[in-house]
Amino acid sequence: MTIWDKLNHFKQYGTDHWGNSDKMNPMLLLMLDQLRDAYGSPFVVFEGFAISGHVQGSMHYLGSAVDFYIKDDLDFYSQITRICTLLAEVRMFCVGWQNSRCCWVTASEITGLGIYPDNRIPSFHLDIRGKAARWGRADGKYVSFKDALKRSKS
Ligand SMILES: [Zn+2]
Repeated sequence: MTIWDKLNHFKQYGTDHWGNSDKMNPMLLLMLDQLRDAYGSPFVVFEGFAISGHVQGSMHYLGSAVDFYIKDDLDFYSQITRICTLLAEVRMFCVGWQNSRCCWVTASEITGLGIYPDNRIPSFHLDIRGKAARWGRADGKYVSFKDALKRSKS
């Protein structure tokens, strides 16, 4: 058994590009699988573990990041909205109990999310970094999430 056997939507040696699939962070894979499940449409991963080509300190170098696009009929703006909603619903860890109810850390609290509306196919970066971070890219530069979100409306 490996972590790959626990995933419903992603295969180690399928059509997704993981870089080196053995280097992928299992926690990220579990989160991505849950998110994909909740979303309900195929995610196409085109970048995972990498040894170059990203900003210094990139989570790709740790196998803790993926770049992907979503195969559905929604425009990118609607995809982003949906991803943000679902990230806040994906439960990662139960960190305590209050009145017999679990206090959950959700995916949105521990993930970096980048949105890239200018890509040939508009796409997402998602990583596990232990805290929330949001950004975008437009005209070849890093911009705020808000600005990239605005751009993805057009
Ligand atoms: Zn990335």
